[in-house]
Amino acid sequence: MRIIVGVNDSVIITDENVYDAHTKKFRNRNVIVLKPGEEYKVQETVDSIIEQLIAFKADRKTILIGAGGGTITDITGYVASVYMRGIQFGFVPTTLLAMADASIGGKNGVNVGVFKNMIGTVRQPQFILHDMAFLNTLPQNEWENGFAEIIKHACIKDAVMFKELEENSIKKYQKSKKGICDLVQRNVILKTKVVQRDEFEKGERRLLNFGHTLGHALENQYELSHGQAISIGMTYAALISEKLVGFKEANRVTDLLLQFDLPTFAEFHRKKVFDVLAMDKKKEKQNINYVLLEKVGKGIIKSVPLKQVENLISEI
Ligand code: ADP
Ligand code: ZN
Repeated sequence: MRIIVGVNDSVIITDENVYDAHTKKFRNRNVIVLKPGEEYKVQETVDSIIEQLIAFKADRKTILIGAGGGTITDITGYVASVYMRGIQFGFVPTTLLAMADASIGGKNGVNVGVFKNMIGTVRQPQFILHDMAFLNTLPQNEWENGFAEIIKHACIKDAVMFKELEENSIKKYQKSKKGICDLVQRNVILKTKVVQRDEFEKGERRLLNFGHTLGHALENQYELSHGQAISIGMTYAALISEKLVGFKEANRVTDLLLQFDLPTFAEFHRKKVFDVLAMDKKKEKQNINYVLLEKVGKGIIKSVPLKQVENLISEI
């Protein structure tokens, strides 16, 4: 089935980098071009998009299309959820990270100060369209970011993919269209299945936060990319797993992260980072739902007292 959306029925939201690198694709379209960067993933940007939608005379039948990385898809989903109490939306993810992870699952929203995704909604897109040609212009560090989430998926759910990754490198995937297409598809299916079983993160979906508890706290405080931050988060989670649940393959995890040019250990200001941990959305009373690994390919969720988490991290 082909659904043809009239030009006037849709508004595309993208950012300057994507627009400049692929201008032709946006010809004759209603486009809102944002400044690139996570620092613009804030309410002020939402307000400015809404003003532009009003100027475009967008109504309840308008479809909003987010064409960009995770920042763009997160904002687009959020704006579409609140504009006129909700209009339809779809995504064209243009980064590896957005293709394999961020565009899937319906979580959207913006940051508030240092707190990531502090406001938002869960609402599913009408479509996700993959155009692999976007990857031709993707900067190297964005490949690393994407692989951080792909390694995360492998750690918690897919030992076979973990093995495949061990036998590969960013370069090899960049050279093989089929290799990267298959890998993206494998990740899309993996994440979609998890989200279908647990859309509102009551259980299994929490596994997708592997590396993200500490990762988010670090990302906020230091100039780390999301991929770098969760890579350090995964390293620490793997070591905590050795202490708490007898995980024996932390070395395999750190070796794989290094193989994909991601960082593992970091010096950080404990107190500052712990203060942010204490505000984590995944916290319940004084316990934090930490995602740990029983073995490669099998993540589990364990409720751990915040204090114990701090002690364990301090010992590493
Ligand atoms: P993510 O959350 O998916 O990592 P972001 O939306 O933060 O992605 O985008 C990361 C950076 O990559 C931004 O500067 C963005 O403008 C840029 N970008 C996104 N897609 C492409 C692309 N296909 N080619 C070049 N740059 C891109
Ligand atoms: Zn992430």
